[in-house]
Amino acid sequence: MNDSILQNIAQQEGGPTYIYDSAKIKQQFERLQNAFHGIKNLRINYACKALSNISVLSFMKSLGSGLDTVSIQEVKLGIKAGFEPKEIIYTPNGVCLDEIERVAKMGAQINIDSLSILEQFGTKHPEVPVCIRINPHVMAGGNSNISVGHIDSKFGISIHQIPHVLRIVENTNMTINGVHMHTGSDILDIEVFLYAAEILFDAALQFKDLEFLDFGSGFKVPYYEGDIETNIEELGEKLTERFHRFCTTYGSDLELAFEPGKFLVSEAGYFLTKVNAVKQTTSTVFAQVDSGFNHLLRPMLYGSHHEIRNISNPGGKERFYTVVGYICETDTFGNNRKIAEITEEDILVFKNAGAYCFTMANNYNSRYRPSEVLWHNNNALVIRKRENFEDLIHNQVMVDFKEKIGS
Ligand SMILES: *Cc1c(COP(=O)(O)O)cnc(C)c1O
Repeated sequence: MNDSILQNIAQQEGGPTYIYDSAKIKQQFERLQNAFHGIKNLRINYACKALSNISVLSFMKSLGSGLDTVSIQEVKLGIKAGFEPKEIIYTPNGVCLDEIERVAKMGAQINIDSLSILEQFGTKHPEVPVCIRINPHVMAGGNSNISVGHIDSKFGISIHQIPHVLRIVENTNMTINGVHMHTGSDILDIEVFLYAAEILFDAALQFKDLEFLDFGSGFKVPYYEGDIETNIEELGEKLTERFHRFCTTYGSDLELAFEPGKFLVSEAGYFLTKVNAVKQTTSTVFAQVDSGFNHLLRPMLYGSHHEIRNISNPGGKERFYTVVGYICETDTFGNNRKIAEITEEDILVFKNAGAYCFTMANNYNSRYRPSEVLWHNNNALVIRKRENFEDLIHNQVMVDFKEKIGS
């Protein structure tokens, strides 16, 4: 996306706005497909918690993607966007049995990550095949170290509890049709991923009715020039070869599934803000934009890095700025950043704003959440209108204290 397109959209929207480039999403989707072209039954289930606008979901559907969901509401969004329930996998964590049963009734693939839920679900619905989420206890521990024993994670059924899973399956007569892992951390080292995959293959051999293996996600994307990213092509080559060997041993051509979120949408997203004030202090120059952690929480929540550019003065002399928001809390987007000289009312763009950005936005300080625009075939399609005052008070109930209450 070039600066003049972004400038035009900033003008059109007149306030903080997220923009997603559909061509980039498509490019990433195809890159993943190509990396695994050797797999006959490849399934890519977009993890929609990264960016769940229904137009983005329907675009994913048009690419041939399935959907990975973590709540019944995400399942409903997926169906609304045109997915068949059977194209949706539901991977809840810490969710009550009742919700899981309701999603099963809707026809989505259930992925269970606790022994207690597995036993309860299997007892009541032995006819519904489920996938199990395994915790292989593997975590990348610094550079190419493999540390086994990520024992404290709340996700998945421990690999050491497979005997208990097998007992539940036998006792309830339920069917396990998939085995899943998602370690959740950025894959910096393919060997670590392949090591975890070995554990999954081992576990999978214990189940006779598998239809698929799901390797989750964790594909790392670059956040700045020269940043490391997961080498998808190398992973594709190695895992494809290994998967084929597994299928031969297992005696059936299973489906191989992934659930990328960040990989598909992170780099496609741009967040546009306007500079309200440039404020010189004794130690830095603050650029204060018309946004805050109410719109983009990740930098404050877990220190994510978003490149910031001044598209109103792209060729300007670079200076150091601390970019902050307008919220009455500390809301630093970027500390000590080299940015082309900023004047008030300039437009700053934040990169990598596709994944976990809008979906974490809120109304703190009673501000409206941003609008969302999909840049598609040279058209700026508004896919979410900016909120207004009515939206803010929509579900609030005003008590009339002039009336006598509670008598
Ligand atoms: C969040 C999530 C993903 C997506 O992770 P990314 O790092 O965004 O690719 C995949 N699978 C599950 C179960 C998740 O919870």
